Amino acid sequence: MKYEGDDAAVTTLLQRNRAWAGRKTETDPNFFARLTGQQRPRYFWIGCADSRVPATEIVDLDPGEMFVHRNVANVVHVGDPNFEAALGYAVETLEIRHILLVGHYGCGGIDASLAELPGFASQWLRPLKAMAARHESELADLDKEALCHRLCELNVIEQVAALAAHPIIGAAWNSRRDMRIDGLIYAVGDGLLGHVCSVTGGDRRVAVRTGYGAASIAFR
Ligand SMILES: [Zn+2]
Repeated sequence: MKYEGDDAAVTTLLQRNRAWAGRKTETDPNFFARLTGQQRPRYFWIGCADSRVPATEIVDLDPGEMFVHRNVANVVHVGDPNFEAALGYAVETLEIRHILLVGHYGCGGIDASLAELPGFASQWLRPLKAMAARHESELADLDKEALCHRLCELNVIEQVAALAAHPIIGAAWNSRRDMRIDGLIYAVGDGLLGHVCSVTGGDRRVAVRTGYGAASIAFR
């Protein structure tokens, strides 16, 4: 079936863009001029591609303040060229020292990982299936809703651990770069972020905050 109205949709987006750019320069005429020289973001956000979790908007940051990589279910896929390029550019070139790994409740990727999926989706979500298997005893008695909820939290902790064990991060810490990773989880239903865990590199452990499970987990 032909999709009607695509020109009109683009026109609307262009109009919205012009209005947005106008609002930005209304109080700060040099807003965009400042950004043209070089980007110097303070944060690197690794989050889910879900349309309800727009990175810079939910932490109220402006363009230029956060470098962003998003994929289905915020997975740290070692060997994925897209992920590796974003991580390398963020840490080695932009020298960002604060990484945010952000999951969210009600994640469709987590939900899908519990089902049998064909092809690429199954391949992408394989680490999530493996995670569910590793935590089988903790998850065994939960109903479907509680299970998805807990898997979304565990996924933040596990992806932070996977990121902390990544050679690019290890090299940065080894060169005495002061850097930290925080794991956050977003609730689509109320717009609020929770602080799940953090790691600063010194003790090779992810510190999990009260209410999100075990006190800490080791990574290699
Ligand atoms: Zn998601």
